[in-house]
Amino acid sequence: MARSETFEIGGKAYPIIDHQYDVVVVGAGGSGLRATMGAAEAGLKTANISKVFPTRSHTVAAQGGIAASLGNNTPDHWQWHMYDTVKGSDWLGDQDAIEYLAREAPQAVYELEHAGVPFSRNEDGTIYQRPFGGHMQNMGDGPPVQRTCAAADRTGHAMLHALYQQSLKYAADFFIEYFAIDLIMKDGACVGVIAMCLDDGSIHRFRAHGVVLATGGYGRCYFTATSAHTCTGDGGGMVLRAGLPLQDMEFVQFHPTGIYGAGVLITEGARGEGGYLTNSEGERFMERYAPSAKDLASRDVVSRSMALEMREGRGVGPDGDHIYLHLDHIPAETLAQRLPGITESGKIFAGVDLTRQPLPVTPTVHYNMGGIPCNYHGEVVTIGADGNPDQIVPGLFAVGEAACVSVHGANRLGSNSLIDLVVFGRATGFRLKETIKPGTPHEEISGEGTEFALTRLDHFRNANGGSSTAEVRKDMQQTMQKHAAVFRDSALMAEGVKNLAETNKRMQDIKVSDRSLIWNSDLIETLELDNLMAQAVVTMNSAENRKESRGAHAHEDFPNRDDGNWMKHTAAWFEGWGGSGGQVRIDYRPVHEYTLTDDIEYIKPKARVY
Ligand SMILES: Cc1cc2nc3c(=O)[nH]c(=O)nc-3n(C[C@H](O)[C@H](O)[C@H](O)COP(=O)(O)OP(=O)(O)OC[C@H]3O[C@@H](n4cnc5c(N)ncnc54)[C@H](O)[C@@H]3O)c2cc1C
Repeated sequence: MARSETFEIGGKAYPIIDHQYDVVVVGAGGSGLRATMGAAEAGLKTANISKVFPTRSHTVAAQGGIAASLGNNTPDHWQWHMYDTVKGSDWLGDQDAIEYLAREAPQAVYELEHAGVPFSRNEDGTIYQRPFGGHMQNMGDGPPVQRTCAAADRTGHAMLHALYQQSLKYAADFFIEYFAIDLIMKDGACVGVIAMCLDDGSIHRFRAHGVVLATGGYGRCYFTATSAHTCTGDGGGMVLRAGLPLQDMEFVQFHPTGIYGAGVLITEGARGEGGYLTNSEGERFMERYAPSAKDLASRDVVSRSMALEMREGRGVGPDGDHIYLHLDHIPAETLAQRLPGITESGKIFAGVDLTRQPLPVTPTVHYNMGGIPCNYHGEVVTIGADGNPDQIVPGLFAVGEAACVSVHGANRLGSNSLIDLVVFGRATGFRLKETIKPGTPHEEISGEGTEFALTRLDHFRNANGGSSTAEVRKDMQQTMQKHAAVFRDSALMAEGVKNLAETNKRMQDIKVSDRSLIWNSDLIETLELDNLMAQAVVTMNSAENRKESRGAHAHEDFPNRDDGNWMKHTAAWFEGWGGSGGQVRIDYRPVHEYTLTDDIEYIKPKARVY
């Protein structure tokens, strides 16, 4: 660590502290920690930067479990897992990457087991696996498979703690409560990242041959979401500012069972353990929409069915605006053993005793299928000037929810995110090892990238307009909630596009009251809002642009999937910086219609029924 340069921005001095690493990972959730471990284990000098303490990353909140075809509780094969993931993705997922995920999953879970994750157990000592939506036996034919490995309903908590403990074993340096502001790009390659220490406001310039973005999702661009308030998609914001596209942002997952009013998640494991939904007439309506999988159909299908029931006047409550989830028929001992966390959540957030009463639930924003486009090695890709849709951005990697590999396509299956984190976190570690020689010297760079990041920081630090960050954020969140919801139509989205462009203009009028650099949460929330805003605009425009229904994107004017015209990934660039409006440029990348090996054939598109 060495102090090198001081930058004069807006009449103020910003001294820089320089660091040199082989690899810098931004984010210490499940994906960031797994990538950090891989890089450090390979002998690469590795830093991990995280805005929250590692074990407070959103991964800690994951409940239901992690998918892998171990076959402990029912027969299972990786080919079945692959089939379900392709079908779940509504054929927008890349099948080479999905094959990689399904094949590597069992090994990745055993690795976690050996790392000390306290999985729930079967009588014979093997890892307990529960059913989850959309996971079936016999290449989709059913019956449901038990594929989701669980540590009660606190799987993410168990996993994140074990991963953090493991990563301390390696010689990685952790920069905890440091906020990454921007990437440093040189001639189209990423050569480092600029971050601020939240504690003392010092500015740090990290040079690296590989920068891994593991910054999680951007659920907080909606008003009600199950994700933590820290899920502000900072990696996606940095990528857009670097002039690179984000992919498939129109696909936002609504989890069927957020607690009504609070938005707190009730895991799909609740239905996996036998829970079911009813409408105001007490009817188990999922039997009508998904005769075979019923309450265990995939998430987009269940969320849409709930929305339809409410729309047709069969919602429960005085306003008919929610649905009941029943667990009251499940023995109290089973609830205590398998679902202790949500039993507590029900009590705290809805005042409901799950052993006796149904829980009011409603579809709630939960996961971003879209993100930073990359291949199954974690390498970020873009569309090249020559039209190459798989052009690698040198030095830049993405993993976890921030990334779009794409294995989840238009809809993610429950328990497929935790497995995505560890499989692709590990794969990224392998790629870093293959492509970077430890201790390779860093090329000189000009101060341009640093100046860019500091100018933006200084601008917001001194912003003195008429709109508070909280007001503008609420405006954005409410527009997203209303105009990019479970069901969408052309008029609604066109209006959403217009309204968001106006909201983005308010970024010019933003007001930050705290001018200091010491724990300035006002400033940090504004930088986060800037990241969220760009992604909200991109999401709304990508949604308005896609004239079909696929997975989580249910377009009422185009109710069918249209493979001829739309089996392609959206790539979207944001061009409305500085609050200039809602300009977005859209292009497309082809879906990979091939598998990784000859062990399995390409799974051809067909109608998606459960
Ligand atoms: C309530 C809930 C329950 C879930 N349950 C399940 C489940 O049972 N099974 C399943 O498969 N999936 C589940 N999911 C989804 C899954 O948990 C997430 O997709 C996954 O944990 C995301 O992990 P991640 O590593 O990508 O990012 P996160 O865990 O979100 O971590 C992001 C990291 O990035 C850091 N960061 C972000 N921005 C910056 C910045 N600017 N500077 C520095 N650091 C930064 C943060 O500090 C943090 O360490 C659940 C999600 C939620 C919200």
